[in-house]
Amino acid sequence: MSRPLPQPQPTYRFLDVQVLRTERLSRSLLRVVFGGPGLGAVVSGGRDQRLKLFLPQAGQDAPVLPDVLDAGWYARWRALDPAVRGIMRTYTVRDVRRDPDELDIDFALHGDLGPASRWACAAAPGDRVALLAPVVTDNGGVDFRPPEGTDWVLLCADETAVPAVAGILEWLPAGTPVRAWISVADAADRVEFPTKCEAEVSWLTRPSSLAEAVAACALPAGRAYAWLAGEASLVREVRRHLVGPRAFPRPAVTFTGYWRAGTTEDALLSESA
Ligand SMILES: Cc1cc2nc3c(=O)[nH]c(=O)nc-3n(C[C@H](O)[C@H](O)[C@H](O)COP(=O)(O)OP(=O)(O)OC[C@H]3O[C@@H](n4cnc5c(N)ncnc54)[C@H](O)[C@@H]3O)c2cc1C
Repeated sequence: MSRPLPQPQPTYRFLDVQVLRTERLSRSLLRVVFGGPGLGAVVSGGRDQRLKLFLPQAGQDAPVLPDVLDAGWYARWRALDPAVRGIMRTYTVRDVRRDPDELDIDFALHGDLGPASRWACAAAPGDRVALLAPVVTDNGGVDFRPPEGTDWVLLCADETAVPAVAGILEWLPAGTPVRAWISVADAADRVEFPTKCEAEVSWLTRPSSLAEAVAACALPAGRAYAWLAGEASLVREVRRHLVGPRAFPRPAVTFTGYWRAGTTEDALLSESA
């Protein structure tokens, strides 16, 4: 008699959540704390752990999603009317807590330009959204992976990747040497990073260039691991400098465009589909 094969554990789950409260962390960074019945199952891999956020369209009180999370969910979501389906955006899990079950997302506000920023600017207790959130630690949604034998870590980010930098600095072992450069629009966008690393953080106010700032610095000796995230052209420029003049091996540089100037996340998704 044949036995049913064990099913692979789903690594992510759709969850209906609601805003519990908001907290302003800097001029442009707003923490939104979510609560909801399924949040007890969410497990973050820490660091730059990503999730998908689904927002309701104007006039809806909750986002419209595919019924089931299976291999076909994304195709079914794309097949829904774009004016009706939940608006999907990518964010970093800044923190997950128990008793009570809560999850934090830190939004870099950029005004009325996009639906996620617009939603966050107005977020109030009780507002409903949905998450596609990790429910196992090893879920494929973490990119910060320093190889064995890394001597020091280089981080470059803009404000959208400040939550991920905070997660990385919390996760790294005490004493890890870190050089970080963060580009923000205004000095009032700076935040404190609680960390046990030996971290030297340089804040740059635009239009100062991240790549030029990195190029102007003497870097520590030893095996480096670099993680770069933020606006796509900014990330590309720093990466080009590291793998070019600085001769970083390509696998030692993890880089992710978190957004692209002049392009919505929907347009970026359509390009990659
Ligand atoms: C893995 C990953 C993790 C991320 N984590 C976070 C996070 O924790 N916090 C966070 O705030 N963002 C994060 N982002 C970036 C966020 O997903 C984008 O900024 C997203 O485009 C915001 O959606 P929106 O609806 O506000 O704007 P969209 O509708 O996508 O874009 C509308 C317009 O706004 C512009 N735009 C988008 N973002 C910005 C910005 N920050 N400043 C100025 N103009 C912008 C676009 O170029 C476009 O012209 C992450 C992205 C990725 C890929």
